[in-house]
Amino acid sequence: MPNTALAAALFPNSLPTPEELEARYPARNLPEGARVTRFAPSPTGFLHIGSLYTAFVNQLTARVTGGVFFLRVEDTDKKREVEGGVGSLLKSLAAFGIVPDEGQAMGAETGAYGPYTQSRRRDIYQAFAKDLLLRGLAYPCFCTEDELSDLREEQEHEGAVQKGYWGKWARCRDLPADEAIRRAANGEAWVLRLRSSGVADKRIAFTDEVRGKIEMPENMLDAVLLKTDGVPTYHFAHAVDDHLMRTTHVIRSEEWLASVPLHLQLFSACGFKAPKYAHISALMKQEDGNKRKLSKRKDPEAAVSWFTRQGYPSYAVLEYLMCLISSQFEDWRRANPAALHEAFPFTLKKMSASGALFDPVKLIDVSKGVIAPMPGAELAARAGDWAREFDRQLADILAARPGYLAQILAIDRDGAKKPRKDISRYGEVREYASYFFDELFTPELPLPDSVTNADAAAILGEYDYSAEDGKDAWFGRIRDLAVRLGYAAAPREYKETPAAFKGHVGDVSAVIRAAVTGRLNTPDLWSICRVLGEERVRARIALAAARLV
Ligand code: GLU
Repeated sequence: MPNTALAAALFPNSLPTPEELEARYPARNLPEGARVTRFAPSPTGFLHIGSLYTAFVNQLTARVTGGVFFLRVEDTDKKREVEGGVGSLLKSLAAFGIVPDEGQAMGAETGAYGPYTQSRRRDIYQAFAKDLLLRGLAYPCFCTEDELSDLREEQEHEGAVQKGYWGKWARCRDLPADEAIRRAANGEAWVLRLRSSGVADKRIAFTDEVRGKIEMPENMLDAVLLKTDGVPTYHFAHAVDDHLMRTTHVIRSEEWLASVPLHLQLFSACGFKAPKYAHISALMKQEDGNKRKLSKRKDPEAAVSWFTRQGYPSYAVLEYLMCLISSQFEDWRRANPAALHEAFPFTLKKMSASGALFDPVKLIDVSKGVIAPMPGAELAARAGDWAREFDRQLADILAARPGYLAQILAIDRDGAKKPRKDISRYGEVREYASYFFDELFTPELPLPDSVTNADAAAILGEYDYSAEDGKDAWFGRIRDLAVRLGYAAAPREYKETPAAFKGHVGDVSAVIRAAVTGRLNTPDLWSICRVLGEERVRARIALAAARLV
């Protein structure tokens, strides 16, 4: 082979052969139709909501088909790597229910197709790179940064149909082997480039699982496969890894769509069967009537950590992502309230090819629906965990009264047929429950329009709360008081002859509610008073009455 000497000069002798690698990573033994998918993040320490979405779709695709979902750390770009990035990434993913079947895991690695970290696969890339060189499908290029920028200028000047390393501008393409060997031996830096088989004006067609049939110009550029330090580019590593790891479906963000012609060429040059591709649209944001991509720089909600800090249950975020994945999800969820996500009849083909709109109002609504059926004790425990991380003051207040928040949150929730959908995130619990805590209570006295200060003073002055009253006796006492003070015992009575009354019993309980809680709208007042305790209820009524005189 003409390139044997060059390959021997550029690559170590000890590399495995492609055949050995094929044998080391055999085809997976999976049932027909099972899909192998992966999430392949760079360890930047930042998890974008769009990446979580992509990871979720990958996991779902594997689960729905009884396949395998693995995680691969793409750390070939050391500039982007952040210390501890992998650990924090895996932690965030796990918090959102993304738990790969194999690959990089906390502190260990599982699976037979590893290593699952690209920096530990150097020999594997080198092996395939050497093979491409031997077969004349790749060559070393010694062009410096300056030469490359001159080349771009020339192309600009000449109006080249395609910018980049190709045709007559690909200066190292036909470098004689002995010259390349000499320059490498002299310590000149080189990258390895693909000898592209692409032809101008020729197009390729492929089917994207989300977008359908796509036609694009063939790749004509001699793309870099190995950088000067011998580390592969994303493109080359993608082909080698997804082939050897036996990925059947590469589901990734749409930014990679433009690279498919190069990727298909790489699979073919390496003699690999290409996977199926699905390019997921970016999450969009509505702003001033326009749609734009959610941006890491401009939008705090682009970071998954923002949802955690706000106190959205991670399950609510996933439920919301399911709504973005399929417009049919909500109807399905109503019919199958307890079913797992993987029971949803999901297919990539039904995903929308245009960018899904991230709608915060909808997220809030979905999240309220997730929180509503939680028993008080569960919600209190979750809110407590959240407070310990994000609201120390609240955490201390809660710690001083163990079990109290659970009692508060049980009101109108435990045993309720239709629990109130009034909390959308743990961060709202402080405000929701504030009047139960003297240190958070603001003694305001909002009165219904129909009630004057003098009327309110009379109501509060005469009202006698007893914690011994059951619900009926408690309400009976309020009704009696209403009648004594000239209010109708029932709203209906008042409606019939409004002139005969000052108002109705609802106005009287509104005044009591306002005195006890500082609000006109709360869950069941009888339950609230029982949780507050007689002493506190009486004190608040006395305090409000005193403010009215
Ligand atoms: N490391 C690439 C990224 O973070 C992965 C893209 C892919 O899924 O292939 O964008």
